[in-house]
Amino acid sequence: AAGQDVDTAAVRKLDSAHFIHPFTDHAALADKGARVMVRGEGVYLWDSDGNKIMDGMSGLWCVNVGYGRTSISQAVYRQMETLPFYNSFFNTTNLPAVQLATLLADLAPPSFKHVFFTSSGSEANDTNVRMVRRYWDLLGYKDRHTIIGRINGYHGSTVAGAALGGMSGMHAQGGMIPGVAHIGQPNYAESGRGMTEAEFGIVAAGWLEEKILELGPEKVAAFIGEPVQGAGGVIIPPSTYWPEIQRICDKYEILLIADEVITGFGRLGAMFGSELMQIKPDLITFAKGVTSGYVPLGGVLVGSRVASVLIDKGGDFNHGFTYSGHPVSCAAALENLRIIQDEKLVSAVAVDTGPYLRQAFCALASHPLVSHPDACGFVAGLNLVKKKADAVYDCEPFGSDDGVGMICRGHMFNNGIIMRAVGDRMIIAPPLVMTKVQIDEMVGRIRDALDATL
Ligand code: PLP
Repeated sequence: AAGQDVDTAAVRKLDSAHFIHPFTDHAALADKGARVMVRGEGVYLWDSDGNKIMDGMSGLWCVNVGYGRTSISQAVYRQMETLPFYNSFFNTTNLPAVQLATLLADLAPPSFKHVFFTSSGSEANDTNVRMVRRYWDLLGYKDRHTIIGRINGYHGSTVAGAALGGMSGMHAQGGMIPGVAHIGQPNYAESGRGMTEAEFGIVAAGWLEEKILELGPEKVAAFIGEPVQGAGGVIIPPSTYWPEIQRICDKYEILLIADEVITGFGRLGAMFGSELMQIKPDLITFAKGVTSGYVPLGGVLVGSRVASVLIDKGGDFNHGFTYSGHPVSCAAALENLRIIQDEKLVSAVAVDTGPYLRQAFCALASHPLVSHPDACGFVAGLNLVKKKADAVYDCEPFGSDDGVGMICRGHMFNNGIIMRAVGDRMIIAPPLVMTKVQIDEMVGRIRDALDATL
């Protein structure tokens, strides 16, 4: 069996001695030791102790087509044998990058005909910062450099990506960059008291207009947001929110950046979340699902408004990465996107397994610990509460020192399901290939773990 020949204790010792993990308290990790993953197949993972675990998080929201796709590894192998690397600087290109750019222009909403490639979502959002500032400079508005993001938004871990994001713990380590501001997130449970969801959506979008007026519209370059906030806790906005954000951006001619690193390539039951939210962004950030995480790749889809200035009139764009348009990453993406299209995974999430997951997951509302579960496509979340109430904002939360979310996450793992805890909000984002039988298995495992948490 997988992991049989792994000396877990020895691996943990080396891990703790040499490997600095992201977002990890190393003193605590050294006591416990890391979980050693050794194999994946479909929606399942195996660790070095031989445990079989359902991956309710698609790795980190990325393994959309599931594990063990040999056609992707073969595409990668063939490309490595043919041309493992060449850069796309200095008037050079490569076939997989051109093919992928062409395919993305086809899959993206109509005004998107260009793409800038990176290796990650963070680099793509850094690219956005330079690109939107360059756009306004080229039009002669040199003061128009401020970008507005949202509290608890997540746009990556580079210094600029973390600044655009609204994670205070990241701002506290490494500081902010100038020219970034934040507004509140459209979190009905937190701020919607006394309003309908529809009313709250308008109010929360109105915070953008307030911020623009506070800063001065002539200073504001762009607004950035995730169609559905992921790492902030799967915050599904009211349906009125995004159209109102679009209206405000249009009114002040502010560029709209949709960070679709999680929501791109089918996760919400549309190829892009912008389509579902009925917005027309000027730039779309993507990563994760473009290769299902098999190899790193990200980028920015550039709409015609920005492309017509940056590309047609901009001269040199002084920006780029060694791995922009990496042929191996692009080859993996081409095969991954073929799978997503041929297996009709986006429409499955839209009309078949997505609604099924929503119904099964939302039935967890009957559990004494759970308040107001909700789902959008293949992302879902529920709140663990001390006392339930009819209105989500009237539920009594656990104390932050109780650590109930983390305790529950441990029970989830012991019950063979990976779920993420954001405070006391438990979230999932399973691979898009998860079947109805597997959804039932997943929700059953979640329910057992909730019982164990009681
Ligand atoms: N943007 C969003 C919405 C994300 O969820 C993430 C990662 O989780 C990023 C950007 C950063 O992507 P990466 O970790 O590939 O740099």
